Amino acid sequence: MKYNNITIAGSGVLGYQIAFQAAFHGFNVTVYDINDAVLEKAKAKFETMSAAFKADLNATQEQLDKTKKNLSYNSNLAEAVKDADLLIEAVPENPKIKIEFYEKLAKVAPEKTVFATNSSTLLPSQFAEYTGRPAKFLALHFANTIWLHNTAEIMGHAGTDPNVFNDVVSFAKEIGMLALPLHKEQPGYILNSLLVPLLSAATDLLVNEVADAPTIDKTWMKATGAPLGPFGILDVVGVTTAYNINKMTAERTKDPLKIKTVAYFKENYIDKNKLGVSTGEGFYKY
Ligand code: NAD
Repeated sequence: MKYNNITIAGSGVLGYQIAFQAAFHGFNVTVYDINDAVLEKAKAKFETMSAAFKADLNATQEQLDKTKKNLSYNSNLAEAVKDADLLIEAVPENPKIKIEFYEKLAKVAPEKTVFATNSSTLLPSQFAEYTGRPAKFLALHFANTIWLHNTAEIMGHAGTDPNVFNDVVSFAKEIGMLALPLHKEQPGYILNSLLVPLLSAATDLLVNEVADAPTIDKTWMKATGAPLGPFGILDVVGVTTAYNINKMTAERTKDPLKIKTVAYFKENYIDKNKLGVSTGEGFYKY
């Protein structure tokens, strides 16, 4: 193991999952967030995560006790990062917040610390200059419910040191991830580069009244052997996310079909609280 001490910045949805996953696999993990009240909320998630690891992975009480011992919490950035070999940043998906965070972090982190961003849509090259160590900076992107959907996409920017990249690939494997290296920067990494066009094409077929959602899904599933079709996937992701993405595209491109799609989602799904699996109904009933 090249890395021992891991700091996770941001203890929200993904940050806490990453912290738990790394602690479960024996790493010494410090969770950092903006204040102690937020960290208390993070601490309270330990029991829910433990229950999920028991149910889904048959985790033993002994493993969970060790996980708890491996986790500590600190709202002082300098203290939280003082021994870190690797810092994983999972602060909000907002370039301004991320830049301010890296500027602050660069001042207090030891020289050895590698920084990795978990950003879903932003590129490491947008932040490299603010890290004070561009060669030791890259993206390490996890998926929600990290212990089940254990993909880790690893993506450097042009200035990332290849040795650092390889060390992060090894770390990802050591915490039980399927490591997926990218050879260059790509918005959306591999997964969303494939998934977004599929979901968008399916939505176009539906809104253009070419076919209904179950028929489109059946075509995809039967012909490719996939367990879910695009609308089944949208129900899992949440219709709100698809609505927001289409809304941004419609505003940017003024494409009439995208404008129609936004209205269609709003009228038939958003306004009726049919948001997918989370509300018991989306394109399908659950
Ligand atoms: P979230 O809103 O649940 O959590 C963000 C956390 O960051 C909060 O605890 C907040 O208090 C904290 N925070 C805010 N400002 C901060 C600062 N200046 N310094 C430190 N912490 C700060 O967000 P999330 O869903 O966990 O997403 C975090 C990152 O992970 C984003 O870049 C997102 O794109 C990425 N991501 C999210 C998902 C997902 O499904 N939610 C999946 C993959 C990647």
